[in-house]
Amino acid sequence: MDKQEFRKYAHQLVDWMADYLEEKEKYPVTPSVKPREIYDQLPSTAPDQGEDFEKIFQDFQEIIVPGMTHWQHPAFFGYFPANNSEPSILAEMLMSTLGAQCMSWLTSPAATELEECVCDWLRDAKGIDSTWKGVIHDTASTATLSAILTARERKSNWGINEKGFSGKEHYRIYSSSHVHSSIDKAIRIAGLGVDNLVRIEVDEEFAMIPEALEAAIQKDIDAGKTPLCVVSALGTTSSTAVDPIGKISEITQKFGIWHHIDAAFAGTALLLPEFQSLINGHEAADSYVFNPHKWMFTNFDCTVLFLKDPKDLVQTFSLTPEYLKTDLDKEVNNYRDWGIQLGRRFRALKLWFVIRSYGLNGIREKLRHHLMLTQKVVQWIHQTDDLEILAPVKFNTICFRQKLSSGDQNAENQFNEKWMAAVNETGKAFFSHTKLNGKYVIRWVIGQTDVTEKHIESAWVLLLETRQKLLQEI
Ligand code: PLP
Repeated sequence: MDKQEFRKYAHQLVDWMADYLEEKEKYPVTPSVKPREIYDQLPSTAPDQGEDFEKIFQDFQEIIVPGMTHWQHPAFFGYFPANNSEPSILAEMLMSTLGAQCMSWLTSPAATELEECVCDWLRDAKGIDSTWKGVIHDTASTATLSAILTARERKSNWGINEKGFSGKEHYRIYSSSHVHSSIDKAIRIAGLGVDNLVRIEVDEEFAMIPEALEAAIQKDIDAGKTPLCVVSALGTTSSTAVDPIGKISEITQKFGIWHHIDAAFAGTALLLPEFQSLINGHEAADSYVFNPHKWMFTNFDCTVLFLKDPKDLVQTFSLTPEYLKTDLDKEVNNYRDWGIQLGRRFRALKLWFVIRSYGLNGIREKLRHHLMLTQKVVQWIHQTDDLEILAPVKFNTICFRQKLSSGDQNAENQFNEKWMAAVNETGKAFFSHTKLNGKYVIRWVIGQTDVTEKHIESAWVLLLETRQKLLQEI
């Protein structure tokens, strides 16, 4: 493709993108394709000769788009939002045009300094201690792994990095039984052994019980094991429960344990001052992660990891072969030393575009709108016979289910599963589920960039009509 053609097709694509954003509601939220249906439409070997872009773009529209789940559809209410926005998309376009590698200050000075700036902006806007420093990672999974590896190295005085495991360590990691699976994965990768993940009991709101945590730590110490790290959650994945961050920090401080706070999804709520008390006491913790790529109108991927003392992280990951050395290494920030990967994308640009375009107040207005819509749905559910909400609605996630007069939990679980599948099959809305205390619940998450009252009303009508049909079949 020559530069002339690039200009032509780029204009064509931008028109398609603008149309998509305007008309995304015309697509079914989830496609009705069967496994292998897309694969079978693709040639079995790569083309030897280059193809016309017209044809490639046509195939994108005819083969790929019909097989996509439309995460930006305002009636996508599943899992968590992965909302994007026009300024974020524009930044992504510029990022790929610049094609910069942002591994060190020298390889992209502006990218490094913009990253320092937007991390500081977000830290201050979220009420995180002003001495903490941030770094952008791809995902919360990677950021949490980095925090756990740093905790491991600090505890072993950077010995495991140097000499490997002696096989005798019994490092113990603690989290609530509702913590995200990325914690289990990080523990495996860090070589700590899944058996060393201690699941702490939760209260009736699915939040970690601090007394149970303290007792578990003491028990391990008495047994000659070494407590390493507590991972608390500000917004668990199933029900967005909030662990008592301050109390957990007191315990980790008392025992000299790393405290990592996983706020991947709900952390965006801290941009609203009324939520900031949830992290009271975090000053005594060590790290905090949240995903602008979930609820902050920033395209996937973009995660920010904040650290009380980045020195420990840098000591864990810093490795400078001759070919990466620069004269400025002592003066500047080389973000390649703040995580696992060497090569880094220019993600700060999209945060900069998003924050400047909306302004913090614009973002806050959107979040408050989501929270207001959520409370509307909560009221509807409360006013409807035989529906119940099984977890406190702290943010924008509602876990609800239908009860049956028989009270038979198996039958209720089957009913709710069938109910959600029937709604999702229409393609008019999409929900996902979890289980709380063995009960199947439908999760309704309201965080899409363009979601309005009209979308929640239509989804509610669809849910009620589908429920009615299924109840008649019983
Ligand atoms: N932690 C929590 C609480 C989450 O909800 C999620 C994603 O759902 C993650 C971690 C993992 O996030 P990522 O996909 O950025 O690794």
